[in-house]
Amino acid sequence: MFILSSPSGAGKTTISHMLLAGDPEISLSVSATTRPIRPGEVDGQDYHFVTQAEFDRMVEADELYEWARVFDHCYGTPKAEIRAGLRAGRDFLFDIDWQGTQQLFQKDQQDVVRVFILPPSLEELQRRLIARAQDSSEVIESRMERARAEISHWDGYDYVVVNDDVDACFAKVSQILAAERMKRARQTGLIGFVRELMR
Ligand code: 5GP
Repeated sequence: MFILSSPSGAGKTTISHMLLAGDPEISLSVSATTRPIRPGEVDGQDYHFVTQAEFDRMVEADELYEWARVFDHCYGTPKAEIRAGLRAGRDFLFDIDWQGTQQLFQKDQQDVVRVFILPPSLEELQRRLIARAQDSSEVIESRMERARAEISHWDGYDYVVVNDDVDACFAKVSQILAAERMKRARQTGLIGFVRELMR
């Protein structure tokens, strides 16, 4: 479980798309959310867009790995697909906030890698949020406030990368993923391979 967190606008979605496009071994964990769909988003691909009643039902039925309220909306990770995928040895990319990261880490420490992406400055973050032009000015204001709150949780992560250049940031995040995959404990089948080597 490869977790990318950052304040909105720090470039996490771009980095996520670059990782997913270039690496067939990792899939996006598609979250359920009650927030309205944005232009360009695809239901079932970016998020499962659900009503509050459906979200409440999923919580009640224990269908979510973790969930949190972010910006007045609920976001959560559906369990079923992730569990089956992990069992089959697949990697998953999670674009979730610090609250979800804490919950996943508490449940599955061994299987979780936590990466936090920082913007080069708050001015640049605001510029990016405005350039995105997907949210009203009140929403941008509240996202800036939330950005400060999100950034204050930077020390709950294994890695921190400053995104002052998207290609350089992507390269660093890819290196983290590659190194974490090479950890001995994660290389299933290594015992058989080494045994074969020694014969
Ligand atoms: P956005 O509305 O910009 O897509 O996402 C807002 C925030 O919610 C982002 O920080 C994103 O990482 C977080 N988020 C998205 N999906 C989930 C989820 O399933 N669980 C949690 N805890 N946070 C999520």
